[in-house]
Amino acid sequence: MNKIKTFYTPKQVCTNMTSSFSKSPLKPMLLMQKIKEEYNTFFDIIDDFEPINKADFYLAHTKTYVDNVYKKEGNYTSNSLPWSKELVKSLPYTTGSLLAAKRYAIQNPGELCFAPISGMHHASPGSGSGFCTFSGQVISAIKIYEEFGLSGAYFDLDGHYGNSIDDSYAFNPLLEKAIPRKCNVNPKGLNENYINDFMLHLDCIEEMILGNKVHYVVFAHGADSHKDDDLGGQLNTECWIKAAEVFAEWVNKVSKKLGKPLPVVLCLFGGYRADDYNIVLELHLKSLLTCNRIINAKEQTILNSN
Ligand SMILES: [Zn+2]
Repeated sequence: MNKIKTFYTPKQVCTNMTSSFSKSPLKPMLLMQKIKEEYNTFFDIIDDFEPINKADFYLAHTKTYVDNVYKKEGNYTSNSLPWSKELVKSLPYTTGSLLAAKRYAIQNPGELCFAPISGMHHASPGSGSGFCTFSGQVISAIKIYEEFGLSGAYFDLDGHYGNSIDDSYAFNPLLEKAIPRKCNVNPKGLNENYINDFMLHLDCIEEMILGNKVHYVVFAHGADSHKDDDLGGQLNTECWIKAAEVFAEWVNKVSKKLGKPLPVVLCLFGGYRADDYNIVLELHLKSLLTCNRIINAKEQTILNSN
């Protein structure tokens, strides 16, 4: 059985979160605990990936803002998270996790990869926002473009529009190549309408992949697009899971047309439940295991038929 290659180290977690509404910086740890206890057979954990450098944050942010976060000065609270040395130390590892997962997926496209990271889609060049400190999406994409000359697309199914990518085009012109326009997909609508809108976007990205304009995809299935989330609400449970099935089946269809597996990275993004946080973790696991079941099963079929 193929396992999900998971890029996780405890160094990417900030435990100092008692005064925060958001558990986002803690979520990777809570999810990984659950995985180790109940779902270990489905995940293969790689923990020795490198963090990014402080200078890498300058790819998507002003030096002033990055330095403010590091030095606890100026607009360092713009992420709405309690500042701590631990939080600052964790940040090069969260983007490092996403970068390592993308790199591995590109080099081993038959293997489904997972970066257990929460929000990194609201920060803009000059500030953090909405529990996001830095634009890990943008930074990792630019680094991948510099390293491989390859471009990516994001399917951002968090409950909230991810503004980081669109806000960063003017700041770093390389982003036009790293994440081409129209490749920051945030579906709109409720339930079936949302799924239909998602499918239209999948068609559009498929065309770009077959036209050699997009080479890998990231599926960020935020749990705050579930209707019972404290902050979200576009999808009932059936439609929320359906989104993962639609995505996974689309990956298989595109891989078949390409004649080789499409590199795929999964990640977490938002999810907030004050009453029972375990529900958030269960939703994420359902999505991950759905992708694993459909995508990895298909890979086996492709391999066996060749
Ligand atoms: Zn969100």
